[in-house]
Amino acid sequence: MITINKKHIGFTAILNFFKKIIHSARTEAEPVKTQVKVYARSEHNISRAQISENALKVLYKLQKEGYSAYLVGGCVRDLLLGREPKDFDVVTDADPEQIRKVFRNCRLIGRRFRLAHVHFGREVIEVATFRGAAEDQNDKQMLNKEGRLLRDNVYGTIEEDVWRRDFTVNALYYNIKDFSVVDYVSGMADHQAATLRLIGDPETRFREDPVRMLRAVRFAVKLGFKLHPDCEKSMHEVADLLSSIPSARLYDESLKLFLSGYALQTFEMLRHYGLFQILFPTTENCLSTEDEGYPRLLLIKALENSDNRIAEGKTVTAYFLFAAFLWESVQVRAIEKISRGLVEFMAYQDAANEVIAKQVKSTALPRHITLAMREVWNLQPKFNARYGSKPSRLITHPRFRAAYDFYVLRAETGGADIEVAKWWAKYQDANETEQRKMTQPPRKSAGVKTGRKRTYRGKAKTKAPGAEV
Ligand code: ATP
Ligand code: MG
Repeated sequence: MITINKKHIGFTAILNFFKKIIHSARTEAEPVKTQVKVYARSEHNISRAQISENALKVLYKLQKEGYSAYLVGGCVRDLLLGREPKDFDVVTDADPEQIRKVFRNCRLIGRRFRLAHVHFGREVIEVATFRGAAEDQNDKQMLNKEGRLLRDNVYGTIEEDVWRRDFTVNALYYNIKDFSVVDYVSGMADHQAATLRLIGDPETRFREDPVRMLRAVRFAVKLGFKLHPDCEKSMHEVADLLSSIPSARLYDESLKLFLSGYALQTFEMLRHYGLFQILFPTTENCLSTEDEGYPRLLLIKALENSDNRIAEGKTVTAYFLFAAFLWESVQVRAIEKISRGLVEFMAYQDAANEVIAKQVKSTALPRHITLAMREVWNLQPKFNARYGSKPSRLITHPRFRAAYDFYVLRAETGGADIEVAKWWAKYQDANETEQRKMTQPPRKSAGVKTGRKRTYRGKAKTKAPGAEV
């Protein structure tokens, strides 16, 4: 690998230009040279019983109408592993208009590259036409008078389609005609070796679409596959390119990364490759200056809990995880503001605003997520008010459950009072009479402080009074 310093930026541009030329020449030439391997039904383990009935209907119907039809991508990869695929993607040589004519329950989506969605109640089977090799189309040339996309080199053959895919194990085609698996890129061998290998030159492919680095992490963790050494090497080198991706796309990807049941491993791996700091810069900043294992502990516990819930078939919410990722950043900022004389409540509000404003630049959190996060944060101090009518009001707050879980998470990791957390657990289980008893303020003569005045001092970084008062 050539290392180039910033002084040679002009040279880098020239180098990239030539790489691009070489790459495009290769992408178009390669299909011709490719040795296709066809694995007959007896040579693989995919059975039609594992395939969704609706996907089968789509495949058979296309075939009956004289088109070729294959399952491709994640579903083939997962079926080979004996896993249930998340969804079934079909590719065909029929163009979108032809697909529409075959299925009544079909909608075309997308502008430049049109896809067909075939609807069966809640299940949608995505049907795509084989993609062509060329990248730089002039959009105008592809439209007819009515503005419909014409069949040209946006669409292509299966031999071209294969080179547009990311990893070799995602580029296996299950042919409905003879139930074989068609393999142009030695994907089957990589599958057997549990290896994620990019098709073509890894650096070029990551440069083309840096999100592939996140996909590499997601698949490695989910499938228990290792990254091919070349792929790994490039990832270390071009990790920074991820920052050029629009924040909306990074938000979508972060949901896939953290809500699929392997959040903890994903977090560790993203940090290892320097990708986490691009998704969550303020969190990474806190982690790199962490004190006595905090906030790492809180994050790890939050991710673990989320994975366990998914394993138990329970739901998980994105805002809870984002609230956990950003909590320490909010606290650090708020403490600093308080030390400069700002009123505590305002300090926390301002800190939350700043942290959220920074975060949305990396991952565009939608408003409903940021609102929910703020609510969870704002409710934290209220858990210490345990006397009078406040507990009965807090418990009816629509965001109580999440805020309580968040308080427990903090208490379990040393950032809040575990006794308070236990009190709330008991309060929730108690009947009305018991609840009334629990919230009766102790007599002054007993010398017990009320919850309102209580101030918990946690770990060095978490003794923010705002979190506890
Ligand atoms: P999952 O199980 O998460 O659905 P998947 O592999 O099916 O995994 P999708 O995002 O559904 O992932 O994409 C379907 C297929 O499209 C992939 O298997 C791959 O062949 C191709 N693909 C998707 N995104 C990219 C990308 N960024 N670059 C290249 N090919 C891609
Ligand atoms: Mg998929």
